Amino acid sequence: MTERPLTDDEAWAAVLRRDRAFDGQFVTGVLSTGIYCRPSCAARHPRRENVRFFATPAEAEAASLRPCKRCSPKDVARDERAVLAAIAAIKAAEEPPALAELAEAAGYSPTHFQRVFTRHTGLSPAAYARALREERARAALSDEGTVTDAIYAAGYSAPSRFYDETKGRLGMTASAWANGGKGATIHWAVVDTTLGRMLVAATDKGVCRLSFDEGEEALRARFPKADLVEGGEEFAALLGQVVASVEAPANGFAHIPLDVKGTAFQEACWKALREIPAGETRTYAQIAAAAGNPKAVRAAGSANARNNVAVLIPCHRVIRTGGDLGGYAYGLDIKRELLRREEAGD
Ligand SMILES: [Zn+2]
Repeated sequence: MTERPLTDDEAWAAVLRRDRAFDGQFVTGVLSTGIYCRPSCAARHPRRENVRFFATPAEAEAASLRPCKRCSPKDVARDERAVLAAIAAIKAAEEPPALAELAEAAGYSPTHFQRVFTRHTGLSPAAYARALREERARAALSDEGTVTDAIYAAGYSAPSRFYDETKGRLGMTASAWANGGKGATIHWAVVDTTLGRMLVAATDKGVCRLSFDEGEEALRARFPKADLVEGGEEFAALLGQVVASVEAPANGFAHIPLDVKGTAFQEACWKALREIPAGETRTYAQIAAAAGNPKAVRAAGSANARNNVAVLIPCHRVIRTGGDLGGYAYGLDIKRELLRREEAGD
């Protein structure tokens, strides 16, 4: 920063932008009302001809102006310290501290502290804590490890909390799924793998389609109302993980996020499929039992067939009672090869 004092035009431009970076550098005196403000004050802007700029609150008060009650121009340094302390407390805490607790530490009322914090960060303390944890969870998910490890590492008290808090804010909602992907953006690509041409599609939340020998047309038929975007930078990173998992399924793929919706029983079946260790197989009767309804063998078969995400929801690990390989939507060659790789530990 230069030593050169701001010109009045620069100061006025900062006021019009409500630029917080200038708080503490000058105050805005409003001669018509007799008050003075920090540059970022959220109150309605005064008319330019009524404004005089002062380097410090003391100079404004020497001109008989009083501090604005809304932006407390004398508290800039104190606010900054309070916000930095609150951010440090949020980062260090296992559970996000309550607003009342953060406000008390700063010596402010909860309402005032919420306003000060929001002015500095653009987020309320609660939203800041939530954003921080989501960011940590996403960062951890992109490394190796399981989803559950990542969630605990990000500071969630239990995995269910993570799903509760992120539900509906990322990826497709249940209603979007029921409505052809309406409102969702889906990135996709078709890539060559050793198992053939593979289509991978994902929302912000995770993989929503993995299939073989399909292209954009089939994807559009499945999600006619979604916004389909080929490629994309973040998608490329996810795609790399998906391809690696398909090439070497024995290494596991629990860390790859999915965006799938089904009935409660279908989702229970898909979860049961994900819990089959690589290299092992189950029958439909076993999947039905694992999903909580041993009699629903036929429904387990249909849940398998309705699986949108091949390989990552490993429906290839289901075989007929008696050991017959059964069917596979993408042909028995692919199923046989996936099972061979998993058994061999490839
Ligand atoms: Zn003000």
